[in-house]
Amino acid sequence: MDPKEATKEQNLTRDQENTQFSSRDRAVESATESVMTVENLNMYYGSFKALQDVSMVVKRNMVTALIGPSGCGKSTFIRSLNRMHEIVPGARVEGKVLLDDEDIYASDVDPVRVRRKVGMVFQKPNPFPRMSIYDNVVAGIKLGRKRKKSEMDEIVEKTLTQAALWDEVKDKLKDGGTALSGGQQQRLCIARTLAVEPEVILMDEPASALDPVSTQKIEDAMEELKKRYSVVIVTHNMQQAARISDYTGFFYIEHMGDPGRLWEFDDTTKMFSAPDRKETEDYVTGRFG
Ligand code: ADP
Repeated sequence: MDPKEATKEQNLTRDQENTQFSSRDRAVESATESVMTVENLNMYYGSFKALQDVSMVVKRNMVTALIGPSGCGKSTFIRSLNRMHEIVPGARVEGKVLLDDEDIYASDVDPVRVRRKVGMVFQKPNPFPRMSIYDNVVAGIKLGRKRKKSEMDEIVEKTLTQAALWDEVKDKLKDGGTALSGGQQQRLCIARTLAVEPEVILMDEPASALDPVSTQKIEDAMEELKKRYSVVIVTHNMQQAARISDYTGFFYIEHMGDPGRLWEFDDTTKMFSAPDRKETEDYVTGRFG
């Protein structure tokens, strides 16, 4: 090999190694960083106050679980993290929600951009009908800049792998998305969310309608996902929250008719072994809810 070419190649390898090191360092460093900060959030549906004074930090590359009895505002809260509640007429928030130090409710912020950075997976899998598995995954990115077929292929393989679905569908990418099982459809929706490269993924009870095997696969995918993304998940399944999350927030309403509040928030280990508040303990031990 031409010595000049050899030096170029060595430099390239070194650059790649440096990049790998620096991204690994960044990942370690970012482990304690917050990606979203919620300050004194109140949330209303018309004149009905659904949430009061919620403050919470979402840590980068961590899974945050939201638990609590039905009607305490978990879905309402998670939707406020990407302005999804705005599709409900009369729904509004007070307070601040920061994503990387930017207030997502500032008047010049485009909600569509917020929803690309903070993606959402819903309770019921909702792949686009009459669209192939492949097209479902790339549906979001097709709206952006034009990409080469090879680049799209790479994104499809990468995101389906991250969503723990690739091996099951790699030979039938042209089949319809809705022909998959419920659990596979949900993982397809996760891949579709990942394809637009969000920073945060919100999941509202993503496994509640799935069988135990599919639930397990979603949980496996979560381990993989948090290496790259930050995840906030609403779940009614206490074992699931304890297994998959690093932090847990417990939402609670003390007196009927009151708005929901974030009653306690802490490391998942502490929340499930020695929470500070009695209501949290009663809930995580299954005494009510
Ligand atoms: P959770 O997710 O904890 O079950 P929700 O966020 O769904 O709680 O609901 C919190 C409160 O807000 C409940 O009293 C519920 O009835 C009310 N709520 C939820 N969605 C709407 C809506 N679209 N319009 C009016 N009220 C709503």
